[in-house]
Amino acid sequence: MAEAPRMPDEIGVRDIQEFLHPVMKKNYGNWKYHDRPRPGVLHHVAHSGDEIWTVRAATSRQMDIHQIRELMDIADDFAEGYIRFTIRSNMEFMVSEESKVQPLIDALTAHGNPIGGTGNSVSTVSHTQGWLHCDIPGTDASGAVKALMDEIIDEFTHEEMPNRVRLTSSCCQINCGGQGDIAINIQHTKPPKIDHSQVGNVCERPTVVARCPVAAIRPAMVNGKPSLEVDEKKCICCGACFPPCPPMQINDPEHSNFAVWVGGKHSNARSKPTFHKLVASGIPNNPPRWPEVSKIVKQILSAYKEDAKDYERMGEWADRIGWPSFFEKTGLPFTKYHIDNWRGGRANLNASAHIRF
Ligand code: SF4
Ligand code: SF4
Repeated sequence: MAEAPRMPDEIGVRDIQEFLHPVMKKNYGNWKYHDRPRPGVLHHVAHSGDEIWTVRAATSRQMDIHQIRELMDIADDFAEGYIRFTIRSNMEFMVSEESKVQPLIDALTAHGNPIGGTGNSVSTVSHTQGWLHCDIPGTDASGAVKALMDEIIDEFTHEEMPNRVRLTSSCCQINCGGQGDIAINIQHTKPPKIDHSQVGNVCERPTVVARCPVAAIRPAMVNGKPSLEVDEKKCICCGACFPPCPPMQINDPEHSNFAVWVGGKHSNARSKPTFHKLVASGIPNNPPRWPEVSKIVKQILSAYKEDAKDYERMGEWADRIGWPSFFEKTGLPFTKYHIDNWRGGRANLNASAHIRF
């Protein structure tokens, strides 16, 4: 008898209802208003009269099982057993009585999790996976983020910025961190170095050729072995060839640097979503504390805090004062690298709608 076909056991995203705090479940979609009694605390009032307080705490994002257990104990002992994570890796704990808010804050603070990240604060950096989960990082995104947030923690726990500030960080130039008011991204500045002895064994050459956005890679025979070659005049040092072909190493301790970009946002509140723009490049990839990155981000934050109008996002502020003023006010040097004069895309950018892996 033929075996029954194996059925897929993937059932998609689980329904969130079973994870909601009972007050949220009961009043789902039926809220009257919300406010923020203090930075890091949200207060929602339902039409039924029910109330719920949410306390937002920073986490170190990449947590070991011991940290998670301790935080779950805090959730059980002080927060009625319910938590959720925000997209920026903050944790939110819900309570249905106001009297439970302060003991919860005290427990989280004592555990080393600062309270904040709401309203016009600098919330936790949304950063990419780095060494832990990804195969192509050029730096440790979480390390640079931790070093930076240690220095600007007061901006997380207070709401003193003109508007919310959302930071992102990406550990390669593919930039899975997305757009941010300030983005801290790795930038490669030299074409990949090819280990020709390995390409034929490791890489599927047509896939690698197709991967290059500017058609700079060609198949080649090197020392009698099938390999690849790169037209370095065309190469834009994006690093896209490295994931499908690790012998095309692009990470370099000297030439893979940090760059800081400003003015990106996803939301369409008041103005349309925007891409961030390069404001500083060639910043050393300098672990374990990356002081040069933190210094530049702090310069930008301080100029924005001083000069922007209330409720102006970082990019709106830069657009209003003009980019020459932005460089004057932040004290950052304007160099030839800020001028986007690359025109290769007109002739050879791979702009097809095909999805490539
Ligand atoms: S930014 Fe790049 S290296 Fe970092 S996790 Fe995303 S794809 Fe991987
Ligand atoms: S994929 Fe990017 S790094 Fe690789 S050769 Fe093409 S442009 Fe250069």
